[in-house]
Amino acid sequence: MILVYVDHENGEIDPLSLQAITFARSLGDDRIEAIVVGTGAANCVPTLTQYGAAQIHVAEHPRLTDYAPVAAARAVIEAMALNKPKLVLGAGSARGNEVMAHVAAITDQPLATDCFTIAIGSPVQVTRARWGGNLIEHANLHADVALATVMQHIVQPEPASTPGPGSITNFTITLTDADLLVRVIERIGDVGGGTSIADAKVIVSGGRGVGSAVGFAPLVELAAQLGGVVGCSRAVTSEGWRPHDDQVGQTGTKVAPDLYLACGISGATQHIAGCKNSKTIVAINTDPEAPIMSHADYAIIGDLHQVVPAIIAALRS
Ligand SMILES: Cc1cc2nc3c(=O)[nH]c(=O)nc-3n(C[C@H](O)[C@H](O)[C@H](O)COP(=O)(O)OP(=O)(O)OC[C@H]3O[C@@H](n4cnc5c(N)ncnc54)[C@H](O)[C@@H]3O)c2cc1C
Repeated sequence: MILVYVDHENGEIDPLSLQAITFARSLGDDRIEAIVVGTGAANCVPTLTQYGAAQIHVAEHPRLTDYAPVAAARAVIEAMALNKPKLVLGAGSARGNEVMAHVAAITDQPLATDCFTIAIGSPVQVTRARWGGNLIEHANLHADVALATVMQHIVQPEPASTPGPGSITNFTITLTDADLLVRVIERIGDVGGGTSIADAKVIVSGGRGVGSAVGFAPLVELAAQLGGVVGCSRAVTSEGWRPHDDQVGQTGTKVAPDLYLACGISGATQHIAGCKNSKTIVAINTDPEAPIMSHADYAIIGDLHQVVPAIIAALRS
């Protein structure tokens, strides 16, 4: 049996967790179970049934009202102890990796993050991306229970051809104060509103070449016209021009839009690690030798402060 840790926001399942459960179905084990934790977890059941879950473990606790990684790991460990999976999978997201890292640390088992192949056997054999995808590692997991996370965007989330029986097991986790030391206590700003860059079909992304926070206004307008969202490079978040939620790359979000418009972004390895799964990359850059050119499907050599308003004007007309 494969157990998948499914992350959600008040019952809305993280699409990367749906990728993980889709990936789990491809591994040849005929029984997939899922674990969901905290407030709203029960709302995930219908979708998880569509995704083929045979059994859904719904873990709750009165104090578990928002994301708390150690508490979530405790729930996964309780489900592991009761149900004896061969493999426990999470999404290769910041939260999936964090929860699974706590599971590994508490149970003293090895964890392979960002896997894109997994062969269940003895040992479990995995292939995974390291160094932002620049290094491919083949590894054997010698473990009582193999723990892994699934590299983002290696599969599209797909419901199962036959829904799972979706039986539900409810249980209350045993938690200590220490398990809740790290938890979300407040949300500030418009977190959770609109489309996130991880799910966007169009991303208009800006780099240092944009020049300032104010300089992003035309990019915001273009993104709105194209029905997309704004992204950025780390140079931009380091300058404080855009929030970290917008950052694409190795230490930001890995994205896979249909269109990635890179405006004034040089194309450093760490940035490309986050946008290389885009279907089409268009670069706007004054430098024809910028590294982004070797990754771009189309390039516009020019000043983004002229090119972006020209595209907006063309779309308007
Ligand atoms: C451990 C580690 C992790 C990192 N993680 C990330 C990450 O997740 N994401 C990330 O992005 N980076 C990351 N970085 C940083 C990365 O190495 C680069 O420094 C960063 O991506 C550069 O951002 P940039 O392309 O915006 O800026 P620059 O490299 O300074 O490039 C600016 C580009 O804008 C062009 N330009 C300038 N003016 C204009 C104009 N008017 N019109 C058009 N083009 C113009 C220039 O020709 C240039 O190509 C990481 C680095 C490290 C060491």
